[in-house]
Amino acid sequence: MSENLSCDFPRASRTLCHDIRVSFEFFPPKTEAMEETLWESINRLAPLGPSFVSVTYGAGGSTRERTHATVARIVRETSVKPAAHLTCVAAAREEIDAIVQGYWDAGVRHIVALRGDPQEGIGSKFRPHPDGYENSAALVAGIRRVADFEVSVSAYPESHPESASVEHDIDVLQGKIEAGASRAITQFFFENDIYLRFLDKVRARGIDIPIIPGIVPVQSFKQTARFAKQAGASVPQWLADRFEGLDDDPQTRRLVAATVAAEQVLDLVDHGVRDFHFYTMNRADLVYAICHLLGLRPKLEQKAA
Ligand code: FAD
Repeated sequence: MSENLSCDFPRASRTLCHDIRVSFEFFPPKTEAMEETLWESINRLAPLGPSFVSVTYGAGGSTRERTHATVARIVRETSVKPAAHLTCVAAAREEIDAIVQGYWDAGVRHIVALRGDPQEGIGSKFRPHPDGYENSAALVAGIRRVADFEVSVSAYPESHPESASVEHDIDVLQGKIEAGASRAITQFFFENDIYLRFLDKVRARGIDIPIIPGIVPVQSFKQTARFAKQAGASVPQWLADRFEGLDDDPQTRRLVAATVAAEQVLDLVDHGVRDFHFYTMNRADLVYAICHLLGLRPKLEQKAA
């Protein structure tokens, strides 16, 4: 049920483990105000020394320029390693390859490679671009052909909404690894058992790359429940109960959110997990507090502007 432990008894989460690694996910900002919030968050979280920070790629490639601009600014202005998300939706291979080459030229060495959602929306059938990469494994192989990138991919502890079975999801994951992926980041989940069972199944198939749990701190219960529905992640009743009646009480909501996320990550630490990927929603405070509980302390100097 658990990965190897290095400080494991009696409860690893009660000792300050020094082998915790975190990464943070951001989305590219749409407005100047959102850009300001994003950079405040990056500057607050960067000193915690994340393994990398990743920037998402909007559905259908809608944020191509903004993703690139955000990632390039991270390279220029911070000491953290960026990872650019990329999908193969609505683009020919040549276009994708040019984007990938552009990242390499900008100093980016890590890409999170995803197939992406169908253009007609989640639930419809994915149709690859006629000259495009047909799936995520083909995209991974394409990226690796352009240059020697580190490539991360997705994994789905509760199955992808299109999936016939968890076994099929693991077949797809295996294909992405054979194409050159060296890390998987999971869709978010709230029941740790779901992740731990998935991990057991993945390991039983001989897959040994890191399968990093994706953690979403609940900034807004309604919004998180909406995302979860789209992503095929279950929202347990106990979670709904914890946020009941707090829609108009942001102060209590934040305290409850911190407690819920802390409970989840500390339990994972007790099960031997040492790597965490946080879906930050571009907000630092909750994630910073959880990282503090995990034993992380500020350490990196920012590059001079
Ligand atoms: P894959 O891993 O290739 O496939 C997912 C599942 O779909 C498979 O396991 C399988 O069950 C099913 N499937 C795929 N192909 C087939 C097939 N041919 N036949 C039958 N079943 C099939 N989306 C964005 O637009 N931008 C982002 O930046 C972004 N970042 C993400 C980051 C993470 C960590 C995760 C978990 C998801 C992210 N997504 C993002 C969402 C992702 O694009 C969607 O979930 C998409 O529908 C699947 O892409 P994938 O690469 O995960 O698919």
